[in-house]
Amino acid sequence: MFAIQAKFTALSQEIREAETLLGRLDEDASELISGLALAEASEAVDAAEATAEVTAAPHMPDEVECPVCRTQPTSGIFGCRSHGHMVCGVCKDSLEHCPQCEDDFKARPPTRKGLMERHFGIKQ
Ligand SMILES: [Zn+2]
Ligand SMILES: [Zn+2]
Repeated sequence: MFAIQAKFTALSQEIREAETLLGRLDEDASELISGLALAEASEAVDAAEATAEVTAAPHMPDEVECPVCRTQPTSGIFGCRSHGHMVCGVCKDSLEHCPQCEDDFKARPPTRKGLMERHFGIKQ
């Protein structure tokens, strides 16, 4: 009888130790999880900052004017193929060369700058 009781006490002791260990493991796990959450959060912040930098980097003014006729290019914004020099839709049709780098508009028509048009809210 005594032997059984001793064994029972020993087993209870082992169970208690196991429970303590489990508790410590739980703490470790929650620390790991909160650490992970922190890492993820800081990564998200980094990503957000990177995006903000990218969107802010090519700084564009609020208004734009064609360097040739000095008016708002309501007929569209175009750029020469060599350097993307800006010219409005009207001037593009009347010019044979890029006013800035002499790029041949007849052989290499300027390309439309849809992104700039959208940025400046120019109707197409
Ligand atoms: Zn123009
Ligand atoms: Zn040009």
